[in-house]
Amino acid sequence: MNAVASLSENSPFVIAKFGGTSVANYAAMNKSADVVLSNKNVRVVVLSASAGITNLLVELSEGCDADKRNELLQKVQDIQYAIIDNLQHAEVIREEINRLLENIAHLADSASLATSDALTDEMVSHGELMSTLLFVEILRERGANSHWFDVRKVMKTNSSFGRAEPGLQQLKESAQHLLLPRLQNDLIITQGFIGQDSKARTTTLGRGGSDYTAALLAEVLNLSRVDIWTDVPGIYTTDPRVVPAAQRIDEIAFDEAAEMATFGAKILHPATLLPAVRAGIPVFVGSSKEPEAGGTLVCDRTENPPQYRALTLRRKQTLLTLHSLKMLHARGFLAEIFTILLRHNISVDLITTSEVSVALTLDTTGSTSTNGSLLTNALMTELSALCRVEVEENLALVAIIGNKLSQVNGLGKQIFGALESFNIRMISYGASNHNMCLLVPGDNAEEIVRTLHSNLFE
Ligand code: ASP
Ligand code: MG
Repeated sequence: MNAVASLSENSPFVIAKFGGTSVANYAAMNKSADVVLSNKNVRVVVLSASAGITNLLVELSEGCDADKRNELLQKVQDIQYAIIDNLQHAEVIREEINRLLENIAHLADSASLATSDALTDEMVSHGELMSTLLFVEILRERGANSHWFDVRKVMKTNSSFGRAEPGLQQLKESAQHLLLPRLQNDLIITQGFIGQDSKARTTTLGRGGSDYTAALLAEVLNLSRVDIWTDVPGIYTTDPRVVPAAQRIDEIAFDEAAEMATFGAKILHPATLLPAVRAGIPVFVGSSKEPEAGGTLVCDRTENPPQYRALTLRRKQTLLTLHSLKMLHARGFLAEIFTILLRHNISVDLITTSEVSVALTLDTTGSTSTNGSLLTNALMTELSALCRVEVEENLALVAIIGNKLSQVNGLGKQIFGALESFNIRMISYGASNHNMCLLVPGDNAEEIVRTLHSNLFE
């Protein structure tokens, strides 16, 4: 145990995670292989499914007629075969992929009879299983000593299919037992996103969960850095597709980046930073297509954090307004509402209250792999028994992320002055020094982000 402990304390090793676009096809996989092979400290590689595969598998798991099934299956096969066709020794790997494609076809047949969240997770896990098999083969052809590892051997989770939570202690024990001793000599390729419950059923950590897998493994293996390789060279002041003038952030603190992820910056899965913060492991974000462009380092603290750091945008927000005269001078109304929401496993995002009503948005981060709506009939029935419920859809959440915001004079004027020609549906500010959140009509959201960016950042 001591040898293991001392190795882990000083581990120089790095974990590298590649997202779907970085393993989308043969060329992208080779670029990613370049990145892996250029840093001899990379010893664990975590992959997403090839771009597009997870969506196709989710669709197959929702049940469809035979024609549609064949069409979707064909698309999955085409994406993976396009990679295999470029390999020098394609025979063995093609057989392995074919076996997984057969599984997918069987699962799709079952789904057309009856769907379930467990089936969906089993189905979608095949995306990561395939991408990792293919990547191992590419690395081998390039002479690297790479090994495929089934992450489900260590990533034990609860049974919340579609949004499963790993058990940290168990992960730590099994990873230190099965993976740590191998890091000295091997290059391990494994799956992000997937896990396994105590009954050996496949689970998933929620869409985009591969980042989270990488950070968790880095934590329990005491690695020195998590490299997240994607298709943008770092984290920007806002989404460059919305605002071309957005600037890359070279260094950002964990808490700022966590706010960004929580409030919709697509760059990191919102849970990713929890393990990194717990273990104090820096996270680097860069583009596997242009690694030389550098990226963003997310770390403990940065020099001179700016007042305004970034703007994020989260679409498709739902606002619930609950009215009840019972709330007038009453006690416990919010407790009753929260009890109902808890029973439905829903977490509240923003909240404002008035004399007889409370408005809240539902937290859709870490949303399930199964596309289910949070506003179920059962939930609405229970809430309606307590109060009058109003639902507004097609809203968007714009978050202004910064530092020491509550200590700034004139913040309101800066922000709302810039937005004087827009309607703002709800404001949430004060709980955190790091953000001000605005709920706005979905159709104006991008315009609002552009306006704020040019006023606060340019
Ligand atoms: N393949 C999964 C998804 O598309 C997990 C990931 O990409 O991180 O959500
Ligand atoms: Mg992804």
